Amino acid sequence: MNNEILWNKVLDEIRPKVNEMVYVTWFKPIKLYKIENNMATIIVPQKIHQKHIEETYSDFIKSALAKVTNNICDFELVLEKDIQIEQEQISFINPNETTLNKNTYQHSSNLNKKYTFDNFIVGDSNRLATATALAVAKSPGESYNPLFIYGSSGLGKTHLMHAIGNYIEENTNQRVLYVSSKEFIDDYTRISRKGNNLTNYDYADYFQNKYHSVDVLIIDDIQFMTTTPKTQDEFFHTFNFLHDEKKQIIISSDRSPNDLNKLEERLKTRFCWGVMVDIFPPELPLRKNIIIKKLAALNLSIEMKEDVIDYIAANISTDVRSLEGAINRLMSYSLMMGYNEINLSIAIDALKNIITKGTSEATNIQKIQKVVADQFQISVDDLKSKKRSASIAFPRQIAMYLSRTILNESFERIGLEFGGKDHSTVMHSCEKIKYEIDNKEEIRKTVEEIKQNIP
Ligand code: ADP
Ligand code: MG
Repeated sequence: MNNEILWNKVLDEIRPKVNEMVYVTWFKPIKLYKIENNMATIIVPQKIHQKHIEETYSDFIKSALAKVTNNICDFELVLEKDIQIEQEQISFINPNETTLNKNTYQHSSNLNKKYTFDNFIVGDSNRLATATALAVAKSPGESYNPLFIYGSSGLGKTHLMHAIGNYIEENTNQRVLYVSSKEFIDDYTRISRKGNNLTNYDYADYFQNKYHSVDVLIIDDIQFMTTTPKTQDEFFHTFNFLHDEKKQIIISSDRSPNDLNKLEERLKTRFCWGVMVDIFPPELPLRKNIIIKKLAALNLSIEMKEDVIDYIAANISTDVRSLEGAINRLMSYSLMMGYNEINLSIAIDALKNIITKGTSEATNIQKIQKVVADQFQISVDDLKSKKRSASIAFPRQIAMYLSRTILNESFERIGLEFGGKDHSTVMHSCEKIKYEIDNKEEIRKTVEEIKQNIP
């Protein structure tokens, strides 16, 4: 992962946690210069940023860095004018159209060496995906082409894709390229931009060199491409070109090709040519195993009691990213407090913002269904039914949304509790209610009121 991608991820972590003014004033103008030996050097435009960020947002930055890099990182803030920026490096990360020509493309795989098969922990929910990924890594371009990996956020899709790329780089001299679909869209937007100068042609060369000369193309989060029809068209050509040449293509998405509503049919068809595998939310034994192995990998001399592992595994069930976040938070907290042993009360205290209900008093989906049904004067059976009239569908969507936001339940689990709905139906319902809450005051109030009634 290059610094720009990494930093954008850090900002994505911070942004939802602060208000927009704070974000624009203090976070938007700063950028990552480098990370070395777990120390991030961050460039700020003015002294005032240095002082205010250090005093007020230090923990935010540390925990976001920890989450994104998987490491406990410290940081320093340096002024832009005090730093000698290696211009060449920057101009490569952010190619400057006016200086590009066909020789300027320097290949970089964008692979993050930290994501390997060795440190990917396998359980029932990801076994098939891992085995398929390994098969592709061992014989790229041969049998499973394209490989399409899908599943909700935080389940390890990006990790697995990097693992494939790293494996191929280590064992062959094939050229691998990992890009997010956003990077592909940005690159394509640059070529298609209208203008009278010739630089677009230069950029077209750059694009060709970058995407058509690889042996393995990995495109992450293809769902973002659904909103850009022209880019889909270009991707279609790139896909055909590489596939005809028997080059391996690996794609990930948060949903299956059929659920990618605005994706062109011809792309969907192609995605189905190879193999599709989905990753599910981690089951309890896998969650425990992940906690144990991630702790060991941190290599800190802090011991975690068995009941703490059980507590985290029982309460954080949606995805691995949240599990990692909880572990990092608990570890940073214990380091800060100087503990070398973590018991249950320390864990409950450190994680109180993440785990809001203790195991004993846990709210469950049934309780939410009952409160929502009462509020709208319908029955719980209606909520679980297939009825689609607005008077039933709307409360059902709210109940799904609350199950997700209050209980952190997986889309799959919620779907099951609502009479066997598909995980994408639940996902759409949650997105819809979130949108309505953000945009309609009366809906925000209704949902707030229901929340107050949930025991
Ligand atoms: P996705 O791309 O599906 O949103 P990521 O690949 O970014 O998820 O995974 C989120 C985090 O969880 C990463 O730090 C990744 O290393 C870690 N992770 C996910 N699944 C596993 C696993 N099975 N074993 C070890 N780490 C995992
Ligand atoms: Mg990902």
